[in-house]
Amino acid sequence: MSRDPRYDILFEPLKIGPVTTKNRFYQVPHCTGMGYLRPQTLAHMRRMKAEGGWGVICTEYNSIHPSSDDTPHVSASLWDDSDIRAHALMTDMVHEHGSLAGAELWYSGARSANLSTRLPAMDVASLPNLEGQPFQTKTMDKTDIRDLRRWHKKAALRARDAGFDVVYVYATHGYLLANFLDPAINTRSDEYGGSLENRVRLTRELIEETKDAVGDRCAVAVRFKSDDTIGADGKPEYGERREMFEMLADLPDLWDINIADYSLEMGVSRFTKEGALEPYMEWVKSVTSKPVVTVGRFTSPDTMVSQIKRGIVDLIGAARPSIADPFLPKKVEEGRFEDIRECIGCNICYAGDSTGTPIRCTQNPTMGEEWRKGWHPEKAAPATSDASVLVVGAGPAGLEAARALGLRGYNVMLAEATRQLGGRVTREAALPGMSEYIRVRDYREQQLLKLTNVDVFRESRMTAEDVFAVEADHVAIATGATWKRERFDGKAYVSVTTGDATVFTPDDIMDGRLPDGPTVVFDGDNYYMAGVIAEAVAKTGVPVTYVTESDSVSAWAGMTAERWRIRTHLMKLGVKIVTAHALTEFDGQAATLVCEYSGQEQTLPASAVVMVTQRTQNSDLYDEILATVGGEAAKLPFSLKRIGDAEAPAIIAAAVYAGHRYAAELDEVVDIDNPMKHDRPDVGAMLPERSGVSTNIATDRQRVDAQQPQPKLRSHNPCL
Ligand code: ADP
Ligand code: SF4
Repeated sequence: MSRDPRYDILFEPLKIGPVTTKNRFYQVPHCTGMGYLRPQTLAHMRRMKAEGGWGVICTEYNSIHPSSDDTPHVSASLWDDSDIRAHALMTDMVHEHGSLAGAELWYSGARSANLSTRLPAMDVASLPNLEGQPFQTKTMDKTDIRDLRRWHKKAALRARDAGFDVVYVYATHGYLLANFLDPAINTRSDEYGGSLENRVRLTRELIEETKDAVGDRCAVAVRFKSDDTIGADGKPEYGERREMFEMLADLPDLWDINIADYSLEMGVSRFTKEGALEPYMEWVKSVTSKPVVTVGRFTSPDTMVSQIKRGIVDLIGAARPSIADPFLPKKVEEGRFEDIRECIGCNICYAGDSTGTPIRCTQNPTMGEEWRKGWHPEKAAPATSDASVLVVGAGPAGLEAARALGLRGYNVMLAEATRQLGGRVTREAALPGMSEYIRVRDYREQQLLKLTNVDVFRESRMTAEDVFAVEADHVAIATGATWKRERFDGKAYVSVTTGDATVFTPDDIMDGRLPDGPTVVFDGDNYYMAGVIAEAVAKTGVPVTYVTESDSVSAWAGMTAERWRIRTHLMKLGVKIVTAHALTEFDGQAATLVCEYSGQEQTLPASAVVMVTQRTQNSDLYDEILATVGGEAAKLPFSLKRIGDAEAPAIIAAAVYAGHRYAAELDEVVDIDNPMKHDRPDVGAMLPERSGVSTNIATDRQRVDAQQPQPKLRSHNPCL
């Protein structure tokens, strides 16, 4: 289909200083957990966005000097020539698709403790480390400021030499320049502190010096927040930000606007909807003649058009929508709106940065696997046979397996016990605030409609006998998992009930079986589920107490930048919170809580307990099938594999990934001893003088291989 003229404005080129973007789709800088550590993985991931039509594709934060080191989080770097070569991998690929590449130069200050480089962090004053590390910054003196300006300029030149078209001055997100700008933090009495003009000085110098260094070839962008302090959502508190902005308004070539509250800017869908930054943009475009971009987890082309037409922005900024769907621009251009894989706002992508691991995405299982596995978000290797595949269970794992197998051209039967597809996402999306999670199902259900080689059988609970009767060549069991009623005491799953007391689980709540009196929700899972369940129960009007062994509410949700909002939300709902306590006993009238530190017991009157702990694999069907051949999978007339939660309960992203991997590797021959490419800094070839040793190593390895009964090369897929 050709482009609907309504969306033409999204495809108008725009001049940004000396360069021109072909359209208005702008991937703003975003972390990947790859940075300087995984250059190939990173370059191929960004390349995919260029292929998908993004006009501008930026890096993550690029350290300009070793005294800005975010370890264990993985930044990119622009320290030396080796970094230039690594970045050029990306810029070359991005340019091949006619897109522009942007580099975000970054100097941390008090947000990094320089744990790897061990250099003292420097900032506007002697500040505590703002991430809670037991380190303080050195107050920058005039020499330090001169050094910083030189490092920034040299990094800008390296960015230019690496082929970048846009170079950033990063003046927000609590990093060094933001602290210089902030009157509450900047207490200096020299020409870099005090008056507004003085506080803006360093940012101005860096903009001017970057323009001077690379401005003939590269656009200079500034990342800047439009509000001053965190207030109520959608109610900006500007302070002197506008005045500050006016002083710099036409200096750079592009403004990339952020806000003070990162938990709103990067908000999860449970608390934040599309376009949440719009109220913070009200004066920005009226004060500068330069192009403006901001984010808003935009997935609707109509919202994008509206943002530009109403003069809020010139470019549609996106991190998450480009992660969930690298081909979003192409799909809008081709009028394939139903193919857009919309971000669900779960922030699993952000957890990569938080944990220092490569980015992954719930909606897009190919994210981060573009180089390592050669996966593509839109294309799949054609089927190598006319084999038929039965997928049992249509949760995220089964749906993705069926979709990806169908795309490959296999004959697929997808059998689902219930009337609804979607499994856990359909159930969880009905819980408070979780509605966007349904996009995991909707995208796949929509795609299955187009695949005539995939037959979907609803209300078809399969038995082992049914599975054999289908006579498929391959069978994938994606039957999911069921929430446990027990808790894990560190060694085993133990019951907490005495007498005839029973406890609820999230499955009960999702099935509509709700407590009718004071309830304790026990969180042994530590992610979002217990908070959501506490909210669902509290909304029925019964008093709720949330209890966790952890020191904080929804501890792991810190990785997805939502735990602080979860706690605030529960407090607003009137949910009582007890941390650092295990729930060890429930007799129907009271719950016994034991302090994690003192061992002291307390009882909490309650008529109901909801245990939100771990899950049990729904493995009965798989076990029954295997039992027919005495556990010898090779004797089955089909290959058999468990995938997703039925194999190992985990996050939704893992189930989608498992489904995709099953489909991608169905017929692939994988060396199971060395199953994936390994991206790491290259230390070059083995030195000649070590060759004797290496020969011995090889011989030892060959001996190990010779002792193995199974062939070294075999498919991943047949049941191992
Ligand atoms: P995952 O996250 O691994 O995809 P889910 O729990 O979300 O797992 O989905 C599992 C799906 O499998 C559910 O929709 C469930 O109804 C379905 N299911 C479970 N057992 C059977 C069975 N025997 N036959 C068909 N479908 C089944
Ligand atoms: Fe969106 Fe979740 Fe994917 Fe991140 S991981 S891009 S929030 S769907």
